[in-house]
Amino acid sequence: MKVRLVMESNEIIPDPVDVLMGQGLPADAVPAVRVKELMSRALEMLSLFAAPRGIIRSISRSEFERIYRDSGNSEGATPLEGIYPQAEQLAVYVVTLGDLITQTVESLFRNNEYPLGAMLDFAASAAIEKAADIMESKWRGEQCAGGGNYASLRYSPGYCGWNIEGQRPLLKFIDSAAIGVQLGENCLMLPLKTTSGLVVGGEPEIHVFDNDYGFCERCNTLECRTRIAELPKT
Ligand code: SF4
Repeated sequence: MKVRLVMESNEIIPDPVDVLMGQGLPADAVPAVRVKELMSRALEMLSLFAAPRGIIRSISRSEFERIYRDSGNSEGATPLEGIYPQAEQLAVYVVTLGDLITQTVESLFRNNEYPLGAMLDFAASAAIEKAADIMESKWRGEQCAGGGNYASLRYSPGYCGWNIEGQRPLLKFIDSAAIGVQLGENCLMLPLKTTSGLVVGGEPEIHVFDNDYGFCERCNTLECRTRIAELPKT
C-alpha cells in the first residue's frame, strides 16, 4: 500500500499549548497578551502558507532490514532493532509543509520581526508533527480496522541511535521527490519543515524498552518514557 496525501492547511494547525510547550513552557502556562497576539498571527500565517502533503508506504520486515542496514553505523544496539522485528505492520513515511512556510520565517527574520518569526517557526514545528499524526492515524485505521489491542509509534533516523544517514535509503524507497522532498547537506531534509521515518504497528508491549543505551546519557527529552507511558494498557 502506498498512499499520497494532500492535507488542508487548517487540518494541521497545532494546539497553541503544543506550540508553547515546544518553547519550553509548561502545559498550564498562562501566556501574556503579547504572546497570544503573536500566536494568533503565527497560526494565521501557517494556515495561509503551509502546503502539507505526504506519502506513507507499507514495507515488509526484510525491506526495512535493508534500509536499516544501509543506514550505516547506527550507534551499536538501538531500541528500534529490537522493536521492528516484532511488528505486525510497518510503513515508511515522509511529510512536509512545503517551502513557502520556511521562506516566510526567513523573511520575518530578515525584516527584524524576530518574535513573530520565532513563533511561526515553533508553530510550523508543531504543525509538522500534527501532519505526521494525521498520516499515521489514517494508516493505523486501515491496519487495525477490526480493533483489538494495537498501537503504532513513529521512529525516525537521527534519533535514539538510528543513524541520520538512514534518510538516504528511506527517502529513496518512498520516492520523496514526488512531493518535492530532497536531501541536503548532512542529511538535512529540504524543505526544512519535513519529517520522515518508520511507523511500527503491533501489540503495545513491543514498544516498551529500558532506556539504558549509551546515547541515552546525552538525552534531554526522555521522550520515549512519555510515549511508553501513553501506550494503551492491556
Ligand atoms: S532516553 Fe532519549 S535517546 Fe534514549 S531511547 Fe529514550 S528518547 Fe531515545
